[in-house]
Amino acid sequence: MTRYDLHSHSTESDGVLRPGQVVARASNVGVDVLALTDHDTTEGLADAIGAAFAIPLKIIPGVEVSVTWQNRLVHIVGINIDPENTSLQKGLAGLRETRMKRAELIAAKLEKLGCKHVLEETRHYVTGKIISRTHFAMYLEKNRYVKDLQKAFKLYLNRGKKAYVACEWAGLGEVVDWIVEAGGQAVIAHPARYKMGRRLMTCFIDEFKEAGGVGIEVVTGQNNPQDIANTAKLSLEKELFASAGSDFHTPRNTWLELGKLSRIPDECVPIWQNWGRDFIFNTSEKARCAAAPL
Ligand code: AMP
Ligand code: MN
Ligand code: MN
Ligand code: MN
Repeated sequence: MTRYDLHSHSTESDGVLRPGQVVARASNVGVDVLALTDHDTTEGLADAIGAAFAIPLKIIPGVEVSVTWQNRLVHIVGINIDPENTSLQKGLAGLRETRMKRAELIAAKLEKLGCKHVLEETRHYVTGKIISRTHFAMYLEKNRYVKDLQKAFKLYLNRGKKAYVACEWAGLGEVVDWIVEAGGQAVIAHPARYKMGRRLMTCFIDEFKEAGGVGIEVVTGQNNPQDIANTAKLSLEKELFASAGSDFHTPRNTWLELGKLSRIPDECVPIWQNWGRDFIFNTSEKARCAAAPL
């Protein structure tokens, strides 16, 4: 059976392995189809595709986009996007700028709390073109303000905490538009993490579908059976395709490991159900493969 992992991160956003290393690790643990979905950037896709060229693993070009919906941060994953699409790239560039402005404000808050050289030192952890709260968490851990990254979020970086900065990301409708225009499928990432009640989640899904969204992550790296059952039910009721993705960032985090995913419940329709070879290999990728067909 083909093993899919449709949500993962590299050093191009806040992961710790380079795109090629993510591909190698995925292949080693038996993943057949991997989507690299870095936050607000598609920069790592070319390297990932290159690394997968000679091994039996297919890369799905993806991205995880930051969205503000009803004053909350939510993530929408774009699967099988054409990374060369102009509206998508314009949108992502705007989000990267927002990240930079937010970073200055987070740094200012941490400095007020007594931390030193925050932005300068945090930049040392930035390995791609985006700056993330994860990089501030690394700064806080390294300087022993906290014992680990989780504590950095819990004490400083989560919503409502001392160094939290509220931010206006992109709108739900516009993000789904960018993904659809780029030929991709829009998927709601890790829905259980939003802690939305049933009514709010229903409202969110209705708006997402109205905009053209088609999928929801039913299985995530956390593999919580109750979350899987709830989301499977939601995907059936709301007629959304079911996706599965680990949200891998680092080998240190063993509970979000590549490919360690429960099966999608049988009653769900997997998002890959109608993917033929043509869908898996989008246009720009096909051009690359033309010289050496698989
Ligand atoms: P940002 O997109 O810059 O707002 O940062 C969000 C990222 O922080 C997520 O994608 C996760 O990778 C990471 N993150 C959020 N909460 C935690 C946590 N409790 N422990 C470790 N990493 C976290
Ligand atoms: Mn992340
Ligand atoms: Mn996410
Ligand atoms: Mn993610």
